[in-house]
Amino acid sequence: MKFGNNVLKATNDYKLVVDDVARLEGCTEGQLAAALELGNESDETKGKYVFTIHLPSMEPFLMNCKDRELRKELWTAYSTRCTSGETDNTQIINEIVNLRLEKANILGYKSHAAYVLDDNMAKTPEAVDELLMQVWEPALAKAKEEAAEYQKMIDAEGGNFKLEPCDWRYYSETLRKQKYDLDDDVIRPYFSLDNVREGMFMVANKLYGIEFRENKNIPVYHPDAVAYEVVENNNVIAILYMDFFPRESKRSGAWMTNFREQSYTKDGKKIIPLVSLVLNFTKPSGDKPSLLNFDETSTLFHEFGHSLHSILSDCRYESLSGTNVSRDFVELPSQVMEQWAGYPEVMKMYAKHYKTGEVIPDSLINKIEAASTYGQGFINTELIAASLLDMAYANISEPTEIKYPDFEDAEMQKIGLIPEIISRYRSTYFQHVFSGGYSAGYYGYTWAAVLDNDAFEAFKENGVFDKKTADAFRYNVLQNGNTEDAMVLYKRFRGQEPSIEPLLKNRGLK
Ligand SMILES: [Zn+2]
Repeated sequence: MKFGNNVLKATNDYKLVVDDVARLEGCTEGQLAAALELGNESDETKGKYVFTIHLPSMEPFLMNCKDRELRKELWTAYSTRCTSGETDNTQIINEIVNLRLEKANILGYKSHAAYVLDDNMAKTPEAVDELLMQVWEPALAKAKEEAAEYQKMIDAEGGNFKLEPCDWRYYSETLRKQKYDLDDDVIRPYFSLDNVREGMFMVANKLYGIEFRENKNIPVYHPDAVAYEVVENNNVIAILYMDFFPRESKRSGAWMTNFREQSYTKDGKKIIPLVSLVLNFTKPSGDKPSLLNFDETSTLFHEFGHSLHSILSDCRYESLSGTNVSRDFVELPSQVMEQWAGYPEVMKMYAKHYKTGEVIPDSLINKIEAASTYGQGFINTELIAASLLDMAYANISEPTEIKYPDFEDAEMQKIGLIPEIISRYRSTYFQHVFSGGYSAGYYGYTWAAVLDNDAFEAFKENGVFDKKTADAFRYNVLQNGNTEDAMVLYKRFRGQEPSIEPLLKNRGLK
């Protein structure tokens, strides 16, 4: 076996080209315009509609396109990517899994999971399993109810086929619209990027007394990037860069990163952090600003939460400061920020119509709230299936020839995953776990969700902008990085170990 090869190759160049717009019934005008624009980028597809397996193109397509054959084509391209040809990852997975085991053994651990978790808040594979199964069981039960409901819809329209993964988003979205009438195009005008950004700055200001001031004199790496000084008591305590829009050469998705971490010099001078937030929102066009849907709004708050972990860090050593904490703890500061984004009282403070300035009406807030527990069976099932798949690879304790898709299929069968749903990422494109540093750590999203729901419960009990609670969170959790055991820090803030109950309740699983 050779080292050096062991990261997954990515492929994103698949294109679904559609000539006949009649086949795109159900797609929104915005989708069609974007697909046509993409088509016009190349001579071969000029005047045609092009969809890709990038999420911003694929997700709405699978949700809206009525043509099942087209959905199936795009879905198949997505779910089988990197299984053959130049970007075949099947053998690389085998190498990575066995090399990780070898490394863990050399370091005295029986498995990669035991090695990784030793340093995490969860500590052992057993603790991870226990947590995941507590959510898995109610989630799967809920997903089965959802599947039955969609099957009924298919039957009612004389579909004469069995629900498959390529259908799930379409029927889920159709039912969501029927039940909640929550139309993206109605929501987006209330969540202009400017208003959402100011909203999150306002939340940070109320909680932690910090301000964000744009400074055009700070050099940026691209004209799209903007730089803010983060100010507390007239001191600049961090620089925050934000880069909102997609462009050629930019990776898709959303993330936060540091150009420099917070630390202290030997003589006690504070080195401030340089923090960068990267997103891929729809660009403003004409006189229409960038308008976010509620998911994107939550994403921005999420990444901003990671930024606050870095911005408010007060640690001596760079390697222990800010977000340099264990994988199952690092999503607490980010996910808890999403709670403010969706809290009605807070939403009314920032969600204002970009044209009229009208505050988001209660009826719409209620719909957003009701919709937030909709589809949770599916969401949790695919997430936890992926987490359990990650753990299955990481728990291997003997050299094993990993065959794709046999290993994955067997594991999914073992936990009873229904055929209408696949793991959120299949092995060949599970970048987080095989190349992204989330190995034996994908469960961290769920672990952190237990923490963030439990943490926000403290704010709900005392008031969402309660200064004392905010201080307790800042000084016990956010500022300490990895200088103490995460559970110790958490208990100091909350006064007790986290409870799983708020999570189950908030996700409508209980
Ligand atoms: Zn995150």
